[in-house]
Amino acid sequence: MANAGKKEKAITQFSTVNALFSGLYDGQFSVQEVVEIGEFGLGCSHGIDGEVIVQGGECYVAKAGKPLEKMHHHDMLPFAQVATFHEQRTQPLANIDKEQLTHKLLALADTQNLFIGLKLKGTFNTVKVRRPPVVQKPYPPMMEALAKQEEEVIDKPSGTLIGFWAPKEYQGLTVAGLHVHFINDQQNGGGHVLDFELLEGQLSFELYDGFNLRLPTTREFLQADLAYNNLDADIEKAEG
Ligand SMILES: [Zn+2]
Repeated sequence: MANAGKKEKAITQFSTVNALFSGLYDGQFSVQEVVEIGEFGLGCSHGIDGEVIVQGGECYVAKAGKPLEKMHHHDMLPFAQVATFHEQRTQPLANIDKEQLTHKLLALADTQNLFIGLKLKGTFNTVKVRRPPVVQKPYPPMMEALAKQEEEVIDKPSGTLIGFWAPKEYQGLTVAGLHVHFINDQQNGGGHVLDFELLEGQLSFELYDGFNLRLPTTREFLQADLAYNNLDADIEKAEG
């Protein structure tokens, strides 16, 4: 058996994108339990009021109109995706945007059928980020909430893109395609990345052949209607 003794490399995801789009915005998992499983990744905060970056075993949250904040271990997250990251491959890159990064990454990975975790650390001409608005209960539908999102173009930052690429077959379970969040080197700015222009940097990535899913067990989740129409198109619009 060629694979005997091979250790599975897995992403662990807490809740699903489908559940988020179905309005399950309340925190379900503590920062503590998320970072115990993976030191690297992304997510969103309670009430979808912020975009979360998991870096070095800490969670940072980017909220509209505020500098990035380090989260407490008891803070709760409705959605997160984490892994342990051991770079399998590194590649210097220069002068590329988000779409070109996707092409480059898939060419280097030489497959579109596994999950990929990636970091791109470097200096950027611009990084265009989104930070969601605060929404109150009863929560509005995701697309309504996101219509009020704050977009910001961060000028000339140094920092790291952190995130995942997923095959299109898993849209809805997760975000298909490239989904990255940004954190600057000062750890005081970042958000969900809509686009960027890299000046120069170092891409590192790892392929994952495992995907662990942790679903919430709250009454709200157990009773939720998770049938969401138009999910594929709305995720594409929302995740930009
Ligand atoms: Zn995001």
